[in-house]
Amino acid sequence: MTRPTPIDCEQCHTEQMFVMRMKVNVTSQPQDKEDLLAGKLNTFVCPKCRFTKMYDFPLFYEDRKRRLMILVVPPPTEVIHKYPPPGVVKTTQLRMVSSRNELIEKILIRDAKLDDRVVEFMKVQVRFASLSRSIPVDGHLMFSGVVKNDDDEDVVQFQDVTGASDDTFLSLPLPYYRKFAKALKPFIAQILTPDTLWLRVDHDYGQQLDRLVDKAIEKEEEVEKPRRKKRRR
Ligand SMILES: [Zn+2]
Repeated sequence: MTRPTPIDCEQCHTEQMFVMRMKVNVTSQPQDKEDLLAGKLNTFVCPKCRFTKMYDFPLFYEDRKRRLMILVVPPPTEVIHKYPPPGVVKTTQLRMVSSRNELIEKILIRDAKLDDRVVEFMKVQVRFASLSRSIPVDGHLMFSGVVKNDDDEDVVQFQDVTGASDDTFLSLPLPYYRKFAKALKPFIAQILTPDTLWLRVDHDYGQQLDRLVDKAIEKEEEVEKPRRKKRRR
């Protein structure tokens, strides 16, 4: 699926041949991962005028070693009847994303050995924390890595990717991640349905998890109240 396609350069209007990649298997071709992370994959560079443009094509990303498969389906979302090879559904993380940036984020989360479902929940918490400090996050929050903060502690770092202002970094301590990961297990199981093969783990997913947790806390408080009254008697 690496057929050269003629495209018109937007700047100098010369027809150039461009190789679009629709499938990437980083197990057999690790260089593809490097190219993707460096922004070189599916990036057109005009040989005549050096005009550069990144293209988001439907892409199938496969990393057998890390047991990760991701479908990139840029909007408008078309129904793609693409099924994973039999036998991998239980052992491989299957994800669907809409853009190259989301794909890269998923790869980085997996490389950091984190669970993207917990990471999306953390983003919701980071937004709440920012809001309570009256500095709301305007843009998309993207995972940017596990890094050391000024106190030499490991933190999960997010980048507020806004078109308007400068990019801002926000973070939560790594131990929070571990606490969340443990506490969220039953809730994650509630969201996952057997027919959801290519799961979209995005902002909506994080909010869904957050609502489930809120409900559970409310229920617990209702049970707590009468118990406290009893003790007082
Ligand atoms: Zn050109």
